[in-house]
Amino acid sequence: NVRDGVFVSTWIEARVDISVPSIARVYDALLDGKDNFPADRAVHDQLIQVIPDGKTAAQYNRQALRRGVEFMVEQGVRQFIDLGSGLPAAENTHQVAQRIAPESKVAYVDIDPIVLAHGRALLAENRNTTVVTADFRRPDEVLNNPDVTALIDLSKPVGLLMLAVVHHVHDNENPAGLVRAYVDRTVSGSHLFLTHFVDHGEETKPIEQVLLNELTRGRFRSIEEITSYFDGLELIEPGVVYNPLWRPTEPVAKPYPLAVRLVAGGIGRKS
Ligand code: SAM
Repeated sequence: NVRDGVFVSTWIEARVDISVPSIARVYDALLDGKDNFPADRAVHDQLIQVIPDGKTAAQYNRQALRRGVEFMVEQGVRQFIDLGSGLPAAENTHQVAQRIAPESKVAYVDIDPIVLAHGRALLAENRNTTVVTADFRRPDEVLNNPDVTALIDLSKPVGLLMLAVVHHVHDNENPAGLVRAYVDRTVSGSHLFLTHFVDHGEETKPIEQVLLNELTRGRFRSIEEITSYFDGLELIEPGVVYNPLWRPTEPVAKPYPLAVRLVAGGIGRKS
């Protein structure tokens, strides 16, 4: 329902201002989803101007999500907290995990209430899944949220997902400390799965500018800095690499286009 230019969810009372673009909806547009509005599509179009194969990069991130979640399930992880989960896409964390281990539990957390509005549809069909609206920069609030604690038992290993979300945290918000705060609350056998925009100097500057101008958030960082988020964890082979190179199912041709090099990530295990 759209009333007075404001999206009114039929699931919750949340009123979402659709005249302001949102990260979740711009990303949805990149993935050819249906949950975006003209303001979001305008930012999408600007991004395609500065990175014509941006949609491919978004798909690479989702493919990495599938391979990473499969890996963690194979390691015995049966509960996941997906931070900055975004709008439901083709294959979401619970679908990937539950295909292998149906008892897998997933708590989705996103700051954007539109994610909850759409996530409720998933909830109705799945009692092992929950969707929470929260700011992941407040780890205590997230981990003590009653919907999260009802599903996730932090005395058992957990898979922490931070995919394409830490690059929306400014330097002065201490991204490394934030990641650490979550890891510190987990037990041995837990995994951190994190992907992040990679800084390629002048090549990525225009993309960063569009994100900062239009969405106020988007910070490209070096592979070294991204790797430092895994400090204290055992970094799983092949380490922090460009998304398509993380345990690929098919060879990736060189030279790598920017879509391949745009986002890098990896998985660390707590021993
Ligand atoms: N994780 C998904 C993936 O990789 O496919 C979605 C990534 S999307 C680029 C980033 C998501 O992070 C958006 O849905 C946005 O709303 C969410 N986000 C940004 N800042 C956040 C915050 N402080 N707390 C929770 N979610 C946040």
